[in-house]
Amino acid sequence: MHEQTLAAEIIHTGVGLHSGIHCQVRILPAAPDSGRYFVRVDLPGAPIIPAQVAAVSQTLLSTQLGTGEVTVRTVEHLLAALAGMGVDNARIEINGPEVPLLDGSAKVWVESIAQVGLVSQTATNPQNYVLINEPIWVRQDDAFVCAFPAPSLCFTYGIHFELPAIGSQWYSWRPNPGLENISFASEVAPARTFALLHQIEYLQKSGLIKGGSLDNALVCGPQGWLNPPLRFANEPVRHKILDLVGDISLVGKLPCAHFLAYKASHNLHVQLARKIWDLKQGNS
Ligand SMILES: [Zn+2]
Repeated sequence: MHEQTLAAEIIHTGVGLHSGIHCQVRILPAAPDSGRYFVRVDLPGAPIIPAQVAAVSQTLLSTQLGTGEVTVRTVEHLLAALAGMGVDNARIEINGPEVPLLDGSAKVWVESIAQVGLVSQTATNPQNYVLINEPIWVRQDDAFVCAFPAPSLCFTYGIHFELPAIGSQWYSWRPNPGLENISFASEVAPARTFALLHQIEYLQKSGLIKGGSLDNALVCGPQGWLNPPLRFANEPVRHKILDLVGDISLVGKLPCAHFLAYKASHNLHVQLARKIWDLKQGNS
């Protein structure tokens, strides 16, 4: 197995979901073994923030990375796009505090990655690859996230909401080995962020979702979706898999395992990523 990076740079601009701040992201090819990392090019000295679980500084409604005072928020969809498309090494320059939400999914990132293409680099350092030999899990109340040993990569997610338009949804994403990127681009990446109408006012009063709109998030109320059509009948649960892929990518290369989650959050996803990271440190 070889590491991969982008064949050329990618640029997108847009508004951050929580901050409402307009930012530009420029993703550049990076050296072998350098991983995925952010660079806050708007700040003096252009500080670097590694996209690693050790750098997670907050997980309230989105995943935020930071080193010291320097942070970058809502990294999960972009990181899922890179990991899902097999981009191991990438320098992600951003001129503000939050990754643009774009259409609420990873579709735009994934299409750009497919457009520029990838280049093969050196062989993967075995120390960068975590072997899941036994089940690992974290839980909170009735929510959980686990990783089971498996012959190939699989993500299974369950959600349950009282709103009838969402209800109970279960979905497994099991790509054919070697074709993960094609399957990720068609089955997971296009699934958009969703929000519940009754929570929106509270979130806005709390100073969150300043950049949220009916153009970048599906909104569900008691009578159904406010802004149909959906891209998939089960778009919400597919989006949860997108979030999980992004959060698990904070360990580096996605470990070959069956990830199973139920009613989980960025917080639980990151807790599992921390456990996997600890295994990786133990392995080396
Ligand atoms: Zn998300």
